[in-house]
Order: sequence, then structure tokens, then C-alpha cells
Amino acid sequence: MIDLLVAGGGPGGLATAIHAARAGLETVVIDRRPGPIDKACGEGLMPHTVKQLEAIGVTLHGRAFRGITYLDATHRVEAFFRSGSGLGVRRTVLSEALYATAAEVGVQIVKGEIGAVSQDATSVRCGDLRARYLAAADGLHSPIRSSLGLDLPTRGRRRWGIRRHYDIAPWSDTVQVYWARDTEAYVTPVADDRVGVAILKSEQGKFGDHMLEFHALAERLDGAPHGRDRAAGPLRQRVRSRAAGRVLLVGDAAGYVDALTGEGMGIAFGGAELAVKAILADAPQDYDRQWRAMSRRYRLLTAGLLYAGGIAPVRRMVVPAASALPKVFGGIVNLLAY
Ligand SMILES: Cc1cc2nc3c(=O)[nH]c(=O)nc-3n(C[C@H](O)[C@H](O)[C@H](O)COP(=O)(O)OP(=O)(O)OC[C@H]3O[C@@H](n4cnc5c(N)ncnc54)[C@H](O)[C@@H]3O)c2cc1C
Repeated sequence: MIDLLVAGGGPGGLATAIHAARAGLETVVIDRRPGPIDKACGEGLMPHTVKQLEAIGVTLHGRAFRGITYLDATHRVEAFFRSGSGLGVRRTVLSEALYATAAEVGVQIVKGEIGAVSQDATSVRCGDLRARYLAAADGLHSPIRSSLGLDLPTRGRRRWGIRRHYDIAPWSDTVQVYWARDTEAYVTPVADDRVGVAILKSEQGKFGDHMLEFHALAERLDGAPHGRDRAAGPLRQRVRSRAAGRVLLVGDAAGYVDALTGEGMGIAFGGAELAVKAILADAPQDYDRQWRAMSRRYRLLTAGLLYAGGIAPVRRMVVPAASALPKVFGGIVNLLAY
């Protein structure tokens, strides 16, 4: 019998598989798409996220960034990381790197659709495959999470993200976050000749329409060749528990607040490590509590900023207040960076 079956070959699933294989577990990953897999993402890895990947031997190619800049029509404030650089990495490049490391450490990757999941006291069955444990890393709207009854109803504003790449040399060595009336645009340098722009908003819509809210940014990008758009959402996903019997939820499947602070992959990699530790200890029941402790700071900061950003008069003060209090802004950025 397989030790660990991982449903989903995104960053959360592959990182889980790499941890497991390095710990000596026979590990199989199943995903409906062949790698390298693309997805709507801001593609900014925070400094602690870069370190998590280096620790499991993943070689990264991208463009370093030194901090975060917030901008609105009249204000601008920069904060630099104290704990190393972040890295902008094109999603397909990250996927290739994770696939390469997974293959090196002996993970078997199967192309296929994840079917119905059933379990007994000693194993989990998913389609034709049977394993001692299942890590469900099947994304934001995880079908496995739903089938196990682990979804909770979401409260508050729903938000969506849409991303586009432009062939233009990065003009900043930070990730720039442009704040408009009810929308944010993130610019992440991902190569010497390319930036990614991710837009977050509480309505679905076309990238070009959203860009009308960002005059200075639209002017800078005007005429630059660009790739196709990719969208995702609704973003917020509340989860009752990250473990049910021998099934552990990892990555976005484990719950998600928002892309506002670029923490998704850091939490996914932290969860991957904890899930494998729980499996090695044969203590899946401990995983949920450990996951909540690991991710608490990031989830609280993201939820707090999201809440503030949803109240119009407070939202208008976010960038002016950050630029009036740059040390406070720097402190918050560095709480998210390590
Ligand atoms: C607009 C936007 C911007 C973001 N910006 C950042 C950022 O700058 N930095 C950051 O760290 N994070 C960011 N994130 C979050 C980040 O993208 C996610 O946290 C990350 O992709 C989670 O990886 P995952 O492996 O859990 O899920 P996914 O990458 O979604 O992988 C899930 C996999 O499961 C597979 N799958 C699902 N269902 C099935 C099925 N039934 N059968 C077979 N296969 C299946 C899918 O094919 C997919 O490959 C952003 C997200 C969005 C939406």
C-alpha cells in the first residue's frame, strides 16, 4: 500500500510530497493537469517562503525583491525586509522546479482525475489508489474538503483575483501594491524582462476594465506586450477542520483568507511540513491545531487589513497612514516576511 497519496500537484501538494519522500514515505501525487501547471497568482514568494523551498532542496529562478511599496494617487511608502529577499517566480517556473525536486526524491506523479474518497481505520481509497494517508491539496474550492463536510459558510465580502504578465523590465525592486477605491493591483517582478500584475476586487470582471482604476500604472504598461489573463475566486474559504480521519487538508484546501498579503504559498509550505510530521507520528488528529498555530499571525494580519480595506473612510486612510507612520508599516511588513 502507498504511504501517502497527495491529491493535487500544485505547490501545496508537491511540497507535501517532497517532505514525505525525503522522510522515506512511498508517495504518489495525482493531478488532472500535466506539469508545469499555471494558475492565477501574484507570484511573490515572501522571504520565509523562499527559505521553506530552499530547505527542501528546490532550486528557484526568479527576480529578487527587497520589500513592499504601497501607493495611491498621491502617497507612496516603502518597507524593506530585514530577513532576506523575497522572490518573484513565474508560476510555471516554480511548478517545473517543484516537479524536478519531486522526481529527484522519488515521488511518483500520476495524471488523473481525483475521484470519490472513502476511508476505513487503516487506509484511504481514492479511485483505484489506496494509501495509508491522503493529503488533499486540491486547491481553493477543494472537492475533497466539500465531500468530507469540512466547508464552513463564508462571511463578509467575496473577492476575486485576476492576473496578467507584461513583457517589460521591472521598474522597482519591491512588490508594488496600488490601492484604488475598492481594488488593489500588485506588480511583482518575475524576470529581468517581465512583471506580473494581479488585481484583487470584490467583483468579477475583465482585467482591462479593472485597470481603468489605476491611471499611472496603466500608462506605464501601455503598449507592453502581455500574455493571457487567469482568474481565481471567490478567495475566502472557511474550513471546519483540516483533518478528517486519515485525510489531511493542505494548501488552499486548508482554508484561505485573501491574496492581499501574498501569504498563500508560505502557509501551504508550512502546512505541508506539519502534515508530514503528523503522518510520521501517526497523529493526524494533531494537525488541525498545529496548522492553526502556524498560520495564525498571517491569517489575522490579512483578515485585519481586509476588514479595514472594506470600510470606505478607513480604506482611504490606509496608504496615507502607512506613509505617515513608515516604521509601523515596516513592522507589519516584517511580521509577514519571516
Ligand atoms: C490573484 C492571486 C494572487 C496570489 N498571489 C500570491 C502571492 O503573491 N504569493 C503567494 O504566496 N500566494 C499568492 N496567492 C495564493 C497562491 O496562489 C496559493 O496559495 C497556491 O496556489 C496554493 O497552492 P495549492 O497547491 O494549495 O493549490 P493549487 O495551486 O490551486 O493546486 C491545486 C491542484 O489540484 C488540482 N486538482 C483540483 N481538483 C482536482 C481533481 N478533481 N482532479 C485532479 N486534480 C485536481 C489542480 O489541477 C491543481 O493543480 C495568490 C492567489 C491568487 C488567486
